[in-house]
Amino acid sequence: MQRRDFLAGSLATGAGLWMAGCTVANDTQSDSDTTQTQGESPMAFEQPKLPYALGALAPFLTEEQMDYHYNKHHAGYFKKLNAAVEGTPQAEKSLRELVIESDGGVYNNAAQAWNHSFFWNCMTPEGGGGEPTGELAEAIKRDFGSVDAMKKEFSDTATGVFGSGWGWLAKDKDGKLKVLPGSNAYNPLKDGMEPILTVDVWEHAYYLDYQNRRADFVEGFWDYVNWDHAGEVFSG
Ligand code: FE
Repeated sequence: MQRRDFLAGSLATGAGLWMAGCTVANDTQSDSDTTQTQGESPMAFEQPKLPYALGALAPFLTEEQMDYHYNKHHAGYFKKLNAAVEGTPQAEKSLRELVIESDGGVYNNAAQAWNHSFFWNCMTPEGGGGEPTGELAEAIKRDFGSVDAMKKEFSDTATGVFGSGWGWLAKDKDGKLKVLPGSNAYNPLKDGMEPILTVDVWEHAYYLDYQNRRADFVEGFWDYVNWDHAGEVFSG
């Protein structure tokens, strides 16, 4: 009965491929809402299905690691967000709108919900790694000199985030690509930029598999990176 979805408000960015095979909806009231039972919130934000099996990214990330990350941590952000906005005007917003407009606990949980959904789509078990193509590849070479230079800056930045956070590749309003560190729940949307690629460097993202070796986790990310997704978002 839930009609909220991670993609709400995002399709205009060209991220339409994000949730292929996932529970995709938008802000349009679905027919199923008419059968909603009393006491069930029609406004709940729904965690998108993982776009691959929990163990599909092994050996980079084991099924156990992904199980905790997706089913405990990511799910927990949706649960806390829904509890926080239930019965308020914020429940009428898209997740993207909440990331941009909200603050405090709502922002933290909305951004973490959005960030993880995006992160899952930044990786792919098949066809991962390799090199970016098309407009994204050209923009990376324009703004960083080479793909390797961008990857090094991204890896160094992500690995260097103090405490919990995210490494980001984002596009600013002028179309220029930038690598950004992000503390805690940071999302570039907050600064008017469009996220292109991210890696989660909270310890919960990698500790079962890598313990304190965050740099090894970030390096492994490149073997599973989904350049097709990044390219679609960039060109959107
Ligand atoms: Fe995480």
